Formats: sequence, structure tokens, C-alpha cells
Amino acid sequence: MNQYIGIEGGGTKFICAHGSGPHDLQDRTVIHTQSPDQTMKEVADYIRATQKKSLIKAIGLAVFGPLDLDPVSPMYGYITTTPKPGWKNFNIVGVLKQAFKLPIGFDTDVNGAALGEYQWGAAQGLNDFIYLTVGTGIGGGLMINGRIVHGAMHPEMGHIIIPRDTSRDSFAGCCHFHSTCLESLASGTAMSSRWCVKSPFDLPSDHEAWDLEAHYLGIGIANHILSFSPQRIIIGGGVMQQTHLLPKIRREVLKCLNGYLKFEKIVNRLDEYIVKPGLGENSGICGAMVLAEQSLVRSVKVREVEFSPEVYA
Ligand code: ADP
Ligand code: ZN
Repeated sequence: MNQYIGIEGGGTKFICAHGSGPHDLQDRTVIHTQSPDQTMKEVADYIRATQKKSLIKAIGLAVFGPLDLDPVSPMYGYITTTPKPGWKNFNIVGVLKQAFKLPIGFDTDVNGAALGEYQWGAAQGLNDFIYLTVGTGIGGGLMINGRIVHGAMHPEMGHIIIPRDTSRDSFAGCCHFHSTCLESLASGTAMSSRWCVKSPFDLPSDHEAWDLEAHYLGIGIANHILSFSPQRIIIGGGVMQQTHLLPKIRREVLKCLNGYLKFEKIVNRLDEYIVKPGLGENSGICGAMVLAEQSLVRSVKVREVEFSPEVYA
């Protein structure tokens, strides 16, 4: 089995691990997200230490965006318009490329998590599904016909615009670009600011915050279902560690759809349709290993073309 380094980069924490998948996940290490220099120094130290004991074939990086994923763009490998201090226009792939002579697979954290769930988790056998994270921010990875959707850039499913419930919410929102996008109203950051707590973890399960949270997530997810017709929606991220939230979200989704979709799973088996990740907290890190493997396969193909006799004939 080839060994890879997986890196999942989030707004609160970077997770590094090495191995080949969930059954072989070694030295899982959490690094607090600080300045890019400090964070990437700790990531590089992790990679160097791992290389001393294991033959690493490639690195997979699944990181918060927005990202430039266009391989022919001069900004390929950059985190672009994030308001996160210091991270705007940061060449995260470049930093790793300079330090390590290894193929690097690169995609959003949620596309990575979707790949992990597809290969080993709750999306096995499905070709059309969404992985949504509700963490520091909100993001979604979309697979259609067995392929992760990139399109012009990559979907930004956390920034869809939804109505604020003015009857019970006067919070101005936390997104620097949109006052009423899903992330602005329902991310962990939004919850902390609205309810003046360090983390949503500090809010008891019977706090009104959770009904409002489920209301906003229900609207967002209903919109995603209507737009993409997924066969399943997987929801992960730190905020979803509150296990009482998922049943509430399911109820809100049904309320929004209001009987319009007659898809059997939505009508009768919503608990199999909107689910938690099969890989728990490891979807992203395992998906990063899939990205690493894909980049290795691509680099081998490029080498084959470069050295094939036809090229020199
Ligand atoms: P990242 O965004 O870095 O990928 P997470 O997915 O863990 O990291 O999301 C971090 C967010 O989730 C923070 O807002 C944090 O306060 C919140 N969070 C983490 N754990 C919990 C928990 N057990 N209950 C509720 N919120 C949590
Ligand atoms: Zn937004």
C-alpha cells in the first residue's frame, strides 16, 4: 500500500495524518490554525518527521477556500478571497511544493471530505450526493455522476442567500461578503457571535439557538436538494457534534419542501437521506489521501508521456 500524507485545513484547525485510508490512519495530529507562516511551518515539520519513518509517495491537501483550482491559472494553488487574516491570496500549494519534491493533490476541504465519504463512508455506492460541513464556516462538496463538481471554480454552497428570520433574529451576520448567506447566519462563527459564547458547544441543547440553527440549515439544505437532486446529504463539521441537531434539521427540511418532492427516501426514510459522516471526524483527512493518490497517478501518467518513445520520434 502506498503511503500518503493527508492534510485537512480548516478555519479553526489543520489536521495531518499519514497512511492510505481510514483503516490505516497514523499519527493524526491537530494543528491550531494561526498565521499561514506559523501553521504551514508546523505542517511542514509534521511532514518532515513522517518522511523520516515512512516512504511518502504524495501529499493531499484539502483546505478551506475559496481556492484557485485551475491548473493553468497563475494563481493555481492559492487560497483567494478569504477574510481570514493573513490567508488571503496565500499560495498554500506553492509553500509545500517548494519544501517537498512530491506530487500534491489539492482541492477544497469539503470536496476532499466528499471523496473520503465516497470511497469509505456514507456515500459508498452513490454517484450523486452532497457533503456539507457546518464548522467555522459552511461549505459543500458536490458529486454528480461519480465526479466531484468543479465547474468554473468550485461550488460555494455555504454562501447561498437565505432569508433572515426577523421575528427572532437580529444578528447582523458574520460573512464579510453577504449579510444573509447560510454561513453568515448558521456557521459556528455565527452562533458564537450571535449568542456571545466562545463556541456553540457552550449552548445547552434546549437553548433556542438550536431551533434557529436548524431552521437556517433546513432552508439551505432544502435549496441544495431542489437544485441538485442528490441521493444523499452528509453533514459533518464541528457544530454537528451536537447530535440533537440532526433530527431538528431533518424536520426543518421537510417543512421547507412542504410535500413537493415525492422521492421515497425523503418521504419515508429521511434519517437515511440526511445523515452524519460515515467516517466521523476523518472524512476530510481520508479524502485528502484520495487527493494524494490521484495526484500520484497523474504524475506517473505525465512521466509516461514524457518518456514515451513516440514523444521523441
Ligand atoms: P474547521 O472549521 O477548522 O474545519 P470544525 O469543523 O471543528 O473545524 O469547526 C469548528 C467550529 O465548530 C467552531 O465554531 C467550534 O466552536 C465549533 N465546534 C467544535 N466542536 C463543537 C461541539 N462539540 N459542539 C458545537 N460546536 C462545536
Ligand atoms: Zn457569504
